[in-house]
Amino acid sequence: MMRLIETNLDLYRYEIHSLVREFYPATEIKVVVEGDERDEKLHREVPYVFLRVHFDRDCMGLILKDGEAAEPLTFERRRESGEPLPFNEKGKETKDILKTFLYETLSRVTGRQLPWGDLIGIRPTKIAMTRMENGETGEEAAAFLQREHHVSEEKANLSVDIAKREAKILSPIHYRDGFSLYIGIPFCPTTCLYCSFPSFNVALWKDRVDDYVDALIKEIAATADLMRGKILDTVYIGGGTPTTLEAEQLERLISAVEENFDTSHLCEFTVEAGRADSITKEKLEALRRHRVSRISVNPQTMKEETLRIIGRHHTVQQVRDSYRLARECGFDNINMDIILGLPGEDAGDVRHTMEEIEKLSPDSLTVHSLAIKRASRLRRIIDEKGYPAFVNTEETMRIADEGARRMGMEPYYLYRQKQMSGNFENTGYAREDKYGIYNILIMEEKQSILALGAGSISKLVFYTENPDGTENIRIERADNPKDVATYIENIDEMIRRKEKLYRIQGR
Ligand code: SF4
Repeated sequence: MMRLIETNLDLYRYEIHSLVREFYPATEIKVVVEGDERDEKLHREVPYVFLRVHFDRDCMGLILKDGEAAEPLTFERRRESGEPLPFNEKGKETKDILKTFLYETLSRVTGRQLPWGDLIGIRPTKIAMTRMENGETGEEAAAFLQREHHVSEEKANLSVDIAKREAKILSPIHYRDGFSLYIGIPFCPTTCLYCSFPSFNVALWKDRVDDYVDALIKEIAATADLMRGKILDTVYIGGGTPTTLEAEQLERLISAVEENFDTSHLCEFTVEAGRADSITKEKLEALRRHRVSRISVNPQTMKEETLRIIGRHHTVQQVRDSYRLARECGFDNINMDIILGLPGEDAGDVRHTMEEIEKLSPDSLTVHSLAIKRASRLRRIIDEKGYPAFVNTEETMRIADEGARRMGMEPYYLYRQKQMSGNFENTGYAREDKYGIYNILIMEEKQSILALGAGSISKLVFYTENPDGTENIRIERADNPKDVATYIENIDEMIRRKEKLYRIQGR
């Protein structure tokens, strides 16, 4: 089912779309602009306009018609003083009024309150952090989130809690004169149902994996030179599944990192071991011979049947065995990822997963809410067969939270994605000093990230100071193609892009 929204606020299509979708997750939402001829086809296809959002100087109006035969409901917002509303298309105030009004109206109509209120950005903790940096107490920042953005008390306090912890964890990081290194390995044993990452079946690509590692090493050697004089704070090898590489390939790759970059200041070197069906003793030993300090062994669920449904061709026992093998090899910082809201799973299944994970006792746990991404097989299945129940609830979130805390962990980073089950969030929990620092840095966007490999996006962060002493951050990016063959064949062009970014733009 498609719901059509018409507005005269072309600039805020994204905000309207994002908020309405949170209230109506099972439907496809299209936002069209009044009088735009390009949207005529949509008007012909969809029998009626579900919501009209109109804004002028005197009044913001919403007309909602929930069904072809339904009577339209009209809502208006004016200033009590009778003053005109601040209609400055690019102004923050217009956007804030729109979001608040839309949220309050949809909340009234549907009878639902969203845990994150009208916040639609990926990093809700940022507001709390900025307000505390500007002198507010944690209580004041939490009160602001509840009052101005309708965030629940629990999520407002969580935001403040995490913002405080993040600030402490990131205190040793060199924002201006440092950087982090990301290397992407876009191969996996099979493709998970919900996956939207660059992921190629390693069995089908096995003849090109060596070429891929060669291309990466060339990119490493060429770009290391661009970062001379900068401090390397963290390294993260992700993907995909980096441990789909053979032990010898991992050895070559990590040796190239250590030979080309100064790793003496590293505070973290993570390799996502990810899938249990890719982990062997030889590979773990190869990682241990180097400076790798943190790995992840990700079950996603400890329910056998769900693993099969989501296309992960490994068993629960393989997760346990890989985890124990990693401990035996000496890893003392192991992360596990789980997903809430997986097909067919209820609170009992999540409780079981947490009990099994607690028996293993990892050092950190990342709790994801299932996100139904456009590029995933899951999205295609939903489009073809309708919207089955992928339920993530406050109860399942609480079960995961309580389990993580029983293991001595605290939440230390949090982010949101589009199309998340239940309007919740992804939360990283960790024991003290077992944090995933790169995970915070990628969200913070305050440090440059040199990103190598297919599908990676390098970032260069510029700091400029305003006359009043405050600083502005501007980010320039350079991306690599997602396709493995295109990346390998165009490696010289990928290197030139980094030279342009870091040598010419970053001068
Ligand atoms: S392991 Fe991760 S990257 Fe690989 S297919 Fe599954 S979700 Fe995608």
